[in-house]
Amino acid sequence: MHKAPRGTFDILPQEHAYWKYVEEKAASLCQLYGYQPLSTPIFEDAQIFTNTVAGGTDIVDKEMYIFEDKSGQELALRAEGTAPVCRAYLEHGLFNLPQPVKLYYIGPAFRYERPQSGRYRQHHQFGFEALGEADPALDAEVIEMARHFFCSLGLSQFIIQLNSIGCKLCRPGYLEVLRQHYSGYTDRLCPDCKVRLVKNPLRLLDCKKTPCQEIAKTAPKIANYLCHECHLHFQSVQKYLGVMGIPFQLNPRLVRGLDYYTRTVFEVEPRENGGQTALGGGGRYDNLIEELGGKPTPAVGFAAGLERIILNLKKQKLDIPALPRPDVFIAYLEEEAKTEAMKLASELRKAGIAVIMATGDKSLRGQMRQADSLDIAYALILGEQEVSKRNVMLRDMRSGEQKTIPSVEIARFLKQPKI
Ligand code: AMP
Repeated sequence: MHKAPRGTFDILPQEHAYWKYVEEKAASLCQLYGYQPLSTPIFEDAQIFTNTVAGGTDIVDKEMYIFEDKSGQELALRAEGTAPVCRAYLEHGLFNLPQPVKLYYIGPAFRYERPQSGRYRQHHQFGFEALGEADPALDAEVIEMARHFFCSLGLSQFIIQLNSIGCKLCRPGYLEVLRQHYSGYTDRLCPDCKVRLVKNPLRLLDCKKTPCQEIAKTAPKIANYLCHECHLHFQSVQKYLGVMGIPFQLNPRLVRGLDYYTRTVFEVEPRENGGQTALGGGGRYDNLIEELGGKPTPAVGFAAGLERIILNLKKQKLDIPALPRPDVFIAYLEEEAKTEAMKLASELRKAGIAVIMATGDKSLRGQMRQADSLDIAYALILGEQEVSKRNVMLRDMRSGEQKTIPSVEIARFLKQPKI
């Protein structure tokens, strides 16, 4: 028996109520803040990710799905949403529009991770990006928008963690101090952190292993090494968050999984969990567009994982609107009635009434059982008598009551608002 590949899953019809709920909230949030939809391909030139996310991060070193196509071109399944959005921004000359350009996406991302609850090899992200503006007000707006999103879903038990990781000018100085701090503890570092110490020291700060976390606790804080501009930028972000009443926690060890971030980084975590299960995260990435071949262009954005959101909606037992059900089921007794039933089904659908038409050779009882299992409000039954008199039998599936109605009136009846 074949199964979905490890770390992936099917989304069955009953689950889709959650997906629809989250996707609709995402779309109306973006409308509220002036973000427009953008869809990018599921695979890209591998370099879109490898040249930007930078070596030394798990996402590039260990988790990318990279393959050669039949022409020998190296492609990668989308590992995250931001780099493709920037590629599209450059490819379509969106930098010529008034800035910032505000875009959002919803789609799958692929990472070869160790599967566990809330961590998959194919997951789905909702992300929004504001490109072409350095104003700290935009960082604060993006954070406020992320919060607005979770609140609109009915999720309120989360914390926003905030940090600044500086820029090209001030970060190298900090990394040197950080390296020096960790060099005193090399014998206690996990094997991954030994590599990070050489390749990517900032990531030392968010290692989840206990001995490494102990060393991180006494590490120098980046806030003390920010250049004047980064310091002012960070102060302004906090001021704007303050006036908008957005609660946040400063976390000097927050660095994020992708290396293109500059200045503001933030993460949204459920209150009762540790850092393993972030609902979403984002920040500023002022160098990414330049790394992709564009002019230096500041930008800021956020992405959330849909699976983790849905896990939390279920955990909090939130009431999600059910998917709309078809209005009627049409049943028939013999071939002549079946022909009339087909005609009726087609006419009702043209009138905008959702119909499930019985098929096959089930008995009337079998057809009614099917209608019951579909949780449909009305069944229309056609037999010889109904056909000859141009009537239909209408059965209220909840009460079991039946009445005969002329065929020509059935659409009007079904469209009447029901109590
Ligand atoms: P990132 O692109 O790493 O910033 O991820 C953005 C969000 O996507 C995270 O905060 C998670 O909610 C979600 N996410 C990331 N990786 C996974 C994964 N492997 N499985 C499920 N959700 C994920």
